[in-house]
Amino acid sequence: MNKYFSECPFAPLYPSELNQDDIYYMKKAYNQALKAWKIGEVPIGAVIVLEGRIIASAHNLVEQNKDASAHAEMLAITQASNIIGDWRLNEATLYVTKEPCPMCSGACIMSRVGRVVFGSSDKKMGFLGGAININEVKTLNHTLQISPNILEEECTNLIQAFFEMKRAFASENKKIKDTNANT
Ligand SMILES: [Zn+2]
Repeated sequence: MNKYFSECPFAPLYPSELNQDDIYYMKKAYNQALKAWKIGEVPIGAVIVLEGRIIASAHNLVEQNKDASAHAEMLAITQASNIIGDWRLNEATLYVTKEPCPMCSGACIMSRVGRVVFGSSDKKMGFLGGAININEVKTLNHTLQISPNILEEECTNLIQAFFEMKRAFASENKKIKDTNANT
């Protein structure tokens, strides 16, 4: 762990409790993403809401768990299923700060999540309209309601800043290594 991760320059968002709309829940997912940053994980967070109540909160744990499947959405889906005692999440809404990847979009289909709300679009890996829209596969037995680009700017800035910091840290490390090698 290095200080660049622990010194996350972004502050948590405190939404008003009076208006529990999509932005409210996305801010909760955003705060999860900040927790990921602080432990050196790509800052992506998710919450699952059922009947106006957050029943699952998670963030990316790929590095810590050494598990490529430990995406925020996957962890949140497992938590939610455990809480309600059912793998079917038809009535639930998943909020995630970045558009779900192929794996997580597939997990949303398999767990029959009712609606997915995401922040930042992902043209390379996003399977809810960014690279491809999984709903276009007409043979699937479930269709997701998709609400894109909620709190988009904040979610996008967070991920971009994280990778910029990582690149800066990597080049600084390389300089130190080169200096050591030359002395
Ligand atoms: Zn994913």
